[in-house]
Amino acid sequence: MDLLIRGGRVIDPAGGIDDLMDVLIADDRISRLGKNLAERAPGTRIIQASGMVVAPGLIDLHAHLREPGFEHKETLQTGLEAAVVGGFTSVACMPNTDPVNDNPAITHYLISRARQVGKARLFPIGAITQGLGGGRLAEIGEQREAGTVAISDDGRPVMNSEVMRRALEYAGMFGMPVISHCEDLNLSGGGVMHEGWVSTELGLKGVPTAAEEVMVSRDLALAELTGSRLHIAHVSCAGSVHLIRQAKEKGIRVTSEVTPHHFTLTDEAVRGFDPNTKVNPPLRSAEDVRAIEEGLKDGTIEVIATDHAPHDLAEKDLEYTQAAFGMVGLETALGLALDRLYHRGILSLPQLLAKLTLNPARALNLDAGKMTVGAKADVVILDPERRWRVDGNAFRSKGRNSPFHGWQLRGMAMMTIVDGQIVMDQGLGI
Ligand SMILES: [Zn+2]
Repeated sequence: MDLLIRGGRVIDPAGGIDDLMDVLIADDRISRLGKNLAERAPGTRIIQASGMVVAPGLIDLHAHLREPGFEHKETLQTGLEAAVVGGFTSVACMPNTDPVNDNPAITHYLISRARQVGKARLFPIGAITQGLGGGRLAEIGEQREAGTVAISDDGRPVMNSEVMRRALEYAGMFGMPVISHCEDLNLSGGGVMHEGWVSTELGLKGVPTAAEEVMVSRDLALAELTGSRLHIAHVSCAGSVHLIRQAKEKGIRVTSEVTPHHFTLTDEAVRGFDPNTKVNPPLRSAEDVRAIEEGLKDGTIEVIATDHAPHDLAEKDLEYTQAAFGMVGLETALGLALDRLYHRGILSLPQLLAKLTLNPARALNLDAGKMTVGAKADVVILDPERRWRVDGNAFRSKGRNSPFHGWQLRGMAMMTIVDGQIVMDQGLGI
């Protein structure tokens, strides 16, 4: 059945479009864009989108969907359902599963299982090293053939610089970026929050920003040496923003991402000892958040990614020092981005949406994130003004580990369309 989305503000950063128009979806594709479009065939489903923004479906290039091995925390079914509730039509999943996704059998499994689930598209990320051990490289070429879009040992840094150099060289041969979790384990060891005044007051061991900055520096040097593409995951501090900005000026091929929690919260949030504020890298200072906002504004940070990391209560409902790192993010990312960045005047809607569509697609070379005629019909319809309250108990994700439970946010996804099919509808369809 054709879909005709009427009267929305169409924002497609890839096509440079920001205009009130209609969108006709036919045969799983964007068929036409324009004013006052007519139905192509009888039985077309009309979707009234006046007051709404119609954009390419969002892309999350950093999620932990936990399958295989940790199905008590999340499955592809629940994770991809959470994704479409959040407006995401494509998700790249990290390889720190059990077994680790360091070989084509796991990549094939993930891709075929995601097809069965049929919600958002799934793009597996392969491991850099076998078993995330940090030593021998995984089967990067075979993994690429099987469908991986990048390599990363996320959750762990590659501490051995020679291994990281070879990872960049190999990934570069296959046109893939290396996604780096920048953390010097010797500097961060045992830390549970940002090292600063608050950690001193609370008596908790801190992680200095230098633990991230030294690895960002190293990886930028290796990206320069190899000429390969580097993507810095979850930038948390001012120093990293500064280093990445300088590297870009030098022409180093680097992209970077920030999570909604790192532009929304500071280490002050840890004062209540809520284990849901325990995340790696940690929530930083207000000064770091300001630098991240600057980096988002001037394009140093071109991607917003969730680092969705579901845990069950057994690992989260513990003393702060004992609790696992991580929080869920797929169902709150768009609301936080609209509320904190758009409504506070830091980014325009086209700038914000580029960081959730076009830019992640470019960073991973995905055929997604655009609404040009002929493109796959992956679309989100969002209401930038809609106020809603985050209810962790209503998450589709199995994870309840969110520090945003109870928050009132402004802006949410109302309908998600993947391959021309409505996969999420908050009451827009008639
Ligand atoms: Zn990470």
